Amino acid sequence: MASSCSGRGVSESTAARARSVMPGGVNSGQRSIPGLEDLVITRARGSRFQDDTGKEYIDFHAAFGPPILGHNDPDVAAAVAHAARTVDLCGVGVTDAEVQLAEVLVDLVPSIEKALLTSTGSEATFHALRVARAATGRRLVVKFQGCYHGWHDSVSLNVISAPGRVGRHDPISAGILPEVLEATLVLPFNDEDAVRRTFEAHGRDIAAVIVEPVPHNVGCLLPTPSFLQTLREATQKHGSVLVFDEVITGFRHDLGGWQRISGVTPDLTTLGKAIANGYPIGAIGGRADLMDMFSSRPGGPAFFAGTYNGAPAVVAAAVATLTKLRNEPVHEHIFGLGGRIRTALRDLYAEIGVPAVVTGYGSIFVTYFMSGGVPRSYEDLLANRGDLFVGYRRRLVKRGVFELPLELKRSHVSYAHTDDDVDRLLEATREAVLETL
Ligand code: PLP
Repeated sequence: MASSCSGRGVSESTAARARSVMPGGVNSGQRSIPGLEDLVITRARGSRFQDDTGKEYIDFHAAFGPPILGHNDPDVAAAVAHAARTVDLCGVGVTDAEVQLAEVLVDLVPSIEKALLTSTGSEATFHALRVARAATGRRLVVKFQGCYHGWHDSVSLNVISAPGRVGRHDPISAGILPEVLEATLVLPFNDEDAVRRTFEAHGRDIAAVIVEPVPHNVGCLLPTPSFLQTLREATQKHGSVLVFDEVITGFRHDLGGWQRISGVTPDLTTLGKAIANGYPIGAIGGRADLMDMFSSRPGGPAFFAGTYNGAPAVVAAAVATLTKLRNEPVHEHIFGLGGRIRTALRDLYAEIGVPAVVTGYGSIFVTYFMSGGVPRSYEDLLANRGDLFVGYRRRLVKRGVFELPLELKRSHVSYAHTDDDVDRLLEATREAVLETL
């Protein structure tokens, strides 16, 4: 029997059955984690989930970010149950809840004059690039090394590249047409000169710049004060569409997203994850003239569709989540615990003498095992000691504290986490790091 992070063998029935009927045994490449092949989840509530051995984990992975209120939030669950009893998918017309949700997005997010719903963040970023190309009649897209915008071809490259691949086209999948990859230009995050040079050379062909305003798919790279403004100016000067992919930052960092924090307003915004506390949703919104290109009937300038867009149970979850985010001190709570964790981790690493950079924002935290100041680009992160990063997290998981044992992944605090959960995280981190060194 192979051993695993969760301390069990791999012969358990559900995991074994999964491997025989599901390629890789999991439903996402991002869930294929060495050492967790036999993890079978049976329950999730509040700050914790449980596996099929009854072992409980305090969950700081939080499904890559959606359950901002905690798992199975009672208000969200009640709204979903009510919707399920009232109306399900009819695939025609609109429900009042869909309109309410679009109104909230327009109200809260500075760039959003009109909005549409999708089922995932990938669909939202796909449509953002499609409408940018439709509006400009141009083919090129600019993205940044370390940013992830979903699984579709135009953005499926240069996320977590091996050192030798940085600066070269590095697709995350086979099967992508070379001409699609060639139409995506990849630049280093926070490099304003590279942005200006690229626009001087290719400005007339650039349909869109898409960026995670804070690249959280490699932990946390904070933008320098002028970087996002430089993107705004370059895109405005050259008539390109600026897309902020706020699938992670939206609602988690501020009800108005990072655009409200930075004061830089993009043309289009994509949202997902924390909007619906774990139910499958994405959204695209922005300038009315761009969004109205989607108002077409089939055959119009930009086609937009999706059988499950605006599904009532999912929309009910989103409305309930956003209502709670607006009415309860959720951000105060998660920012407070996030700040406490970052400070305590910095003290811990200083005390035990491990070179570490503890960073994050609000409810997000991550430790890079390297010397130096706060990293500004993916290239800076190449100094991170991956063995220590993954090693201590594997030991954390064994101790019942779940941070994903995958390099550069961030961790999240939810409204359901308590100071006791944080005490346990800090105690387990100390033990896990000392054991890994
Ligand atoms: N954009 C960002 C910033 C993301 O982090 C993700 C997913 O992790 C996506 C887009 C894609 O969202 P989804 O997985 O819902 O398709």
